[in-house]
Amino acid sequence: MAKISMKTPLVEIDGDEMTRVLWEVIKEKLLLPFIDLKTEYYDLGLANRDKTNDEITVQSAEAVKRLGVGVKCATITANTARQKEYNLKYLHPSPNATIRAILDGTVFRKPISVSRVKPTISTWKLPITVARHAYGDVYKAAEMEIEGAGKVELVYTKSDGTERRVKVADFAGSGIVQGMHNVDESIRSFARACFIYALTEKLDVWFATKDTISKIYDGRFKAIFNEIYETEFKEKCAQSGINYFYTLIDDAVARVVKAEGGFLWACKNYDGDVQSDMIASAAGSLAMMTSVLVSPGGVFEYEAAHGTVQQHYYRWQKGEKTSTNPAALIFAWTGALAKRAELDNTPELAYFAKGLEKAVLSTIEDGIMTGDLAKLSDPPPVKVLNSWDFIDAAADRVQI
Ligand code: NAP
Ligand code: MG
Repeated sequence: MAKISMKTPLVEIDGDEMTRVLWEVIKEKLLLPFIDLKTEYYDLGLANRDKTNDEITVQSAEAVKRLGVGVKCATITANTARQKEYNLKYLHPSPNATIRAILDGTVFRKPISVSRVKPTISTWKLPITVARHAYGDVYKAAEMEIEGAGKVELVYTKSDGTERRVKVADFAGSGIVQGMHNVDESIRSFARACFIYALTEKLDVWFATKDTISKIYDGRFKAIFNEIYETEFKEKCAQSGINYFYTLIDDAVARVVKAEGGFLWACKNYDGDVQSDMIASAAGSLAMMTSVLVSPGGVFEYEAAHGTVQQHYYRWQKGEKTSTNPAALIFAWTGALAKRAELDNTPELAYFAKGLEKAVLSTIEDGIMTGDLAKLSDPPPVKVLNSWDFIDAAADRVQI
């Protein structure tokens, strides 16, 4: 049987712990037997990041920029415990933050739906994808404790030295104050990434802020999103039958829990932080959530939303064949392969990627699953497998 060929290599970004273990198995059992896999490989395992002083992280992001599509395994974000465990030279920055900064990307999170795992919200028929603006607001805010009576002002000192002031509050007693910011260019990038993603996935776009209360700050978000839509995407959206819908954030939240799903919910940073966890938990399981970083330049990096599943890794090291769910990792690969196929115009590869997703989904639909899903499955599972046996079961169903 001839293997499916690829034109342009994928950027393959390897990672840590249990996901690194499964990464190999996925390649060996689900990819290499069927496709002539071409990748440019970057090892972002913590040991190699330490050895290269994080240069490898930067190189991997540059490669995604150059080749257009990457697939990334989960990676450890170092903390002091990890520094000890891996005898690190220094506390490495989050690789995802480094990559995101280089690609100027927005992260989209989408649940993988299976009928056996019912969303907690019964009206949801299709997955809801959340796009979170990943710059500024409360995440880059300055805060101050106010000890007692006094006045707090915002002061803007222009580069020519002139000042503009606005009163925040007259304090009669103690309290707190916070100053936050955002920049137009980042909001524009965010809006562009959302419309690029929506066009790729054929989804309506919802965006919401609190512009009735925050007329300048949230008002700017609303205005920029609208400007990007009107000037750059309105025609393309119309051609693809995609609608752009703006509403107030409280109205959006109320509508989301009554909606059928199947749209992209673009969220400001804090809204996205909070609401993506609500969507993930109401949709089923973290192990069934995919994530893709989309840059405004049209560059894509696919990954699972979950981490390295550390505790399972320690059990695997002791010899246990854990029942870690590989679905989101597999979907990271299929997402990347399908995008590569679209860009290279290689329909056999696109067909394979769809087929592999179907193989995984039909395995679960037939009641064959890993332990995490077994707890949620309705009706109850037919067979609960370890990761290796689950991957074998899915491989048996791949048709090319
Ligand atoms: P995690 O790896 O997502 O795991 C948290 C828990 O969720 C696991 O203990 C497990 O629960 C469950 N889980 C997650 N994925 C699963 C899967 N595929 N199959 C079955 N169960 C799954 O998060 P964490 O333990 O907080 O973080 C571990 C490491 O991952 C950290 O070093 C962190 O820095 C890193 N991390 C990386 C990324 C990334 O690269 N994108 C994202 C998040 C975290 P049970 O133990 O109950 O089975
Ligand atoms: Mg959160």
